[in-house]
Amino acid sequence: MIGIKISDKKIIERHFEEIKNHLCNSKGLKYKYSVLDNWILGITDNTYNLEKVIKAKPKQLKSIIDKVEEVGIDFQTEPPTKDKNNDYEKAQYFLTLYKKFSTRGDNHFVRYNALQLVNELDINVCPYCNRNFINNTKLIDKSSNNPYVKRTAQLDHFYPEGKYPYLAMSFYNLIPVCGTCNVIKLEQTVGVNPYEIKNTDEHIIFDYSFNNSISEYKVDTIYMSRDYEKNWTVLGLEELYKIHNNYVEDLLHRLRLYNALYRKDLTHYFNKWDERTDSQFESHISKEDFERVIFGNYFLEPDLNKFPLSKLTKDIVSRYR
Ligand SMILES: [Zn+2]
Repeated sequence: MIGIKISDKKIIERHFEEIKNHLCNSKGLKYKYSVLDNWILGITDNTYNLEKVIKAKPKQLKSIIDKVEEVGIDFQTEPPTKDKNNDYEKAQYFLTLYKKFSTRGDNHFVRYNALQLVNELDINVCPYCNRNFINNTKLIDKSSNNPYVKRTAQLDHFYPEGKYPYLAMSFYNLIPVCGTCNVIKLEQTVGVNPYEIKNTDEHIIFDYSFNNSISEYKVDTIYMSRDYEKNWTVLGLEELYKIHNNYVEDLLHRLRLYNALYRKDLTHYFNKWDERTDSQFESHISKEDFERVIFGNYFLEPDLNKFPLSKLTKDIVSRYR
């Protein structure tokens, strides 16, 4: 439900170049770049090549699927004979590539892998649920005693790799998500790809209502786009968000305690206090910074990828701010 922003488009170019480099220059590969490139051209009626499939934007991914289905080559059924030139084997090879790319310790991709991709995306929180952190951590390898970075984000294939293996390495099909979302979604498809979310309000707006009495707050929604409804349902978010009813209650208490007038007074007081202190404290607290401290979360659209429940906070706060 939150967008993944790509600050530098070079990472998409790099993603493609590293795959191409691997397929062109590694020794002993079952299929080289030119073979897979030709195969992709074949299954898309010469509409897309391998580069286009790897770099395809979210909407283009759907066009590629439509084209492949229109051409109608069967690469899902394993043929009885082991012929390395059949469509099934070539389709499966994309899954082999993905395994190399996503497995720690696999050195087929010399300078690049899933960990680096997640690092470069610089996203702290699961974009599907906005409930769990997905930041990388450092650990010590028991056998070598060497430190290594462990990815806590799992990569979901927006279009499942079992059904669409030829999209297994496509940049915009790889979504870093939390373990909960990955284990719930599995081979299902959802409606909105986080890479296409520019403004979260276009997809969902949270609200609150009451359960049985006016003292029992509950997370509610006042708007959901048709496409996003699928994410909400498939990922079981209605049920998962019930545990955050108390969070909404606390947030509403804070909003009432620190009403707009009181917040203005406090900001004024802190900034006055700032002016009298040493230079190390001289920076003024902006209205947004101060409110972030009061509300205990980020609530501006560009910051939603920084902290869990930021979208819920944004929507509740924006009603009163
Ligand atoms: Zn999640």
